[in-house]
Amino acid sequence: MSDRRDTLKRIPLAEPYLGGNEKEYLLQCVETNYVSSVGPFVQRFEEEFAQYLGVPYAVATCNGTAAIHVALQLAGVKAGDEVLVSTFTFIASVNPIRYLGATPVLVDSEEQSWNLNPDLVMKEVRRRAEVGRLPKAILVVHIYGFPAQIGPILEIAARYDIPVIEDAAESLGATFEGKNVGTLGLMGCFSFNGNKVVTAGGGGMIVTKDPEMARLAKHLTQQARLPGMEYRHDMIGYNYRLTNIQAALGLAQQEQLTEFLRRKHEIAAKYKQLLKDVPGIEFPAGVSNTRSSDWMFSVLIDPDGFGRSRPEVLDLFKEVGVECRPVWNPVHTMPMYASCPRLGGAVAEMIFSKGIALPSSVGLSDSDQDLVIASLKRFCRS
Ligand SMILES: *Cc1c(COP(=O)(O)O)cnc(C)c1O
Repeated sequence: MSDRRDTLKRIPLAEPYLGGNEKEYLLQCVETNYVSSVGPFVQRFEEEFAQYLGVPYAVATCNGTAAIHVALQLAGVKAGDEVLVSTFTFIASVNPIRYLGATPVLVDSEEQSWNLNPDLVMKEVRRRAEVGRLPKAILVVHIYGFPAQIGPILEIAARYDIPVIEDAAESLGATFEGKNVGTLGLMGCFSFNGNKVVTAGGGGMIVTKDPEMARLAKHLTQQARLPGMEYRHDMIGYNYRLTNIQAALGLAQQEQLTEFLRRKHEIAAKYKQLLKDVPGIEFPAGVSNTRSSDWMFSVLIDPDGFGRSRPEVLDLFKEVGVECRPVWNPVHTMPMYASCPRLGGAVAEMIFSKGIALPSSVGLSDSDQDLVIASLKRFCRS
């Protein structure tokens, strides 16, 4: 695909790939004067999205954080409640819990998928059931495209009637036992930020099979305004709508999702194939019966085996014009969340101390990927 970045000597981590109807749909917005919240693209995007995932309802939001906020509120999360969530995630998974005045209970990762450890969740739910203090919801994040081990979590949640919300912001197109992630719990949340599998410039989506949840999600994102001219509102809503312009871009991108995923899988397969024998480099195995979206390929660098630390490798990549990033910094290390209850040990901290995300854009050229791989091999000092 496009080699224009070669001249800039910079390989970006994750940039949009605008290879379809983006221009045409955006032009239609301008030509019809529908650039804001009125216009056909929001509904078209919602329908296309719901159809891809195989769910009856999709509700567009202005970003993924807003989607999570609304989903948690509709799951019944209120001030004083507690919500189980991964500590190894982007901060946007957790902030909405605080927006609602609830407390996150930060769960450590397992090493297969880096997602929340289901054994810790099950133990905690049973313990809490005995003392009569169940969590109000479980927010399952599917990180870096890897589906979490959600099976046992869905089971115990069903037994105790605890709603499960999925943060699938990084995992559009990933599957668990053949089903799309985001469709397994009460509601699933997605993001269309610029670095995600599909971008709308910015945007988000809530998907659900529950018609009442869908209706309320739409209502809450539109200031809870009642039909009619008189500006009547029956709840405290939010201005969380997606615009027609954003939806036009999102729809054009969504139409290319199958091809995007094909390319993401190809990039990940090549990284795995060519890096698997490099000493000190490991990657998550993934959970059986799941398929990653391969959103952003990430590796663990073990300083003993590799001969260099994660920060050293990041500096070296910077020198050769390759944009890499450390993986997510565990939420419990942030001052606002340092005093939250936590479950488990230090797996998330281990992942953070060793993890690097490698360039994984759909438009990454073969030669650029070769450069990333050759550089990493060259950095190795064993
Ligand atoms: C991107 C992301 C979000 C939030 O999405 P925005 O659209 O940026 O608000 C939430 N959770 C995770 C795990 C993400 O990666």
